[in-house]
Amino acid sequence: MKLDFAALGVDALVVAALPNVRYLTGFTGSNAIALVEPHRTTLFTDPRYSDQASREANCPSRTVKRGALILAVRKVLDRAGVRRIGFERNRASFAEHAALAYKLPRRSTLVALDHAVEKLRMIKTPGEIAKIRASVEINSRAFERALARFQPSMTELDLAAEIDYQMRLAGADGPAFDTIVASGERAALPHAHPTRARIEANRLLLIDAGAMVEGYASDMTRVVAVGRIPAPLKRMYAAVREAQQAAIDAVGPGVSSRLVDRRARQTLKKYGMDREFVHSTGHGLGLEIHEPPRLGRGESVKLAAGMAITIEPGVYRTGVGGVRIEDTVVVTASGRETLTPTTKDLLSI
Ligand code: ZN
Ligand code: ZN
Repeated sequence: MKLDFAALGVDALVVAALPNVRYLTGFTGSNAIALVEPHRTTLFTDPRYSDQASREANCPSRTVKRGALILAVRKVLDRAGVRRIGFERNRASFAEHAALAYKLPRRSTLVALDHAVEKLRMIKTPGEIAKIRASVEINSRAFERALARFQPSMTELDLAAEIDYQMRLAGADGPAFDTIVASGERAALPHAHPTRARIEANRLLLIDAGAMVEGYASDMTRVVAVGRIPAPLKRMYAAVREAQQAAIDAVGPGVSSRLVDRRARQTLKKYGMDREFVHSTGHGLGLEIHEPPRLGRGESVKLAAGMAITIEPGVYRTGVGGVRIEDTVVVTASGRETLTPTTKDLLSI
């Protein structure tokens, strides 16, 4: 997909968000700005990356020897007399905006764009889907190998480290985000960080992990029973599993993201648990772990073939624990494909 300059109302776009730079140019270094014009793109980076830029980038690159990259970009814009200069309002730093706005020639204006590149990124190419699929498979393999090494003496951090280690052994560049391992009551925190606490027996254990493979993320949550768990937790698990399946079944091209979210909530409501579901049902993923579209109660996006999303309803009960089940799903022309191969039967370890 290409940027539509006329629709955006700009003559050039200054792209400073690194995942967007990577998407547009192929460059993976940590300091870069892409200046995108209708008929050419120029990558700006510093001398540490000149070699890498000439190897990776699919466009000409300029090495900026001194000063901030944005100042060099600004000079090029001034010299070319670019009139409508787009920048990423959701990504540009204050310093970058200030450098673009400072003493702007009278005939030039800055145009604040919202998620211009992220909107293109929502629809993945077959090549991108293949990388996400590889990432999902490596993540599931690492999860299964780490669980097989579970010992009752382990802390949450021990198990998180084992998962990250197995991920790298299985072929990942690393984790796509800080692996979540939350035992017992701590599973009631949707974004718990693993602690030095022992993994508790006869409680639920929540694991949320994703791999980064060739720049693409995967995301999966599973809850396992450590020993024997009481009936209310089993009921919570059954409710979330049903809600997650109902949401997955609703995914398809032309379907509103809000409807998918509603399906999960309606199912949990049957069980009287909808109020304990405190986040959205899912999010897009790709070069970043969280990217548009969001599948929640707020804004609605029409799903389309090629989107990669997560479906991850959860129920969280303070003092008791939590259940979330999350798969990575691709919207296809005829419906959906769940990429995550890991079982959703409640495993016991
Ligand atoms: Zn997750
Ligand atoms: Zn997620």
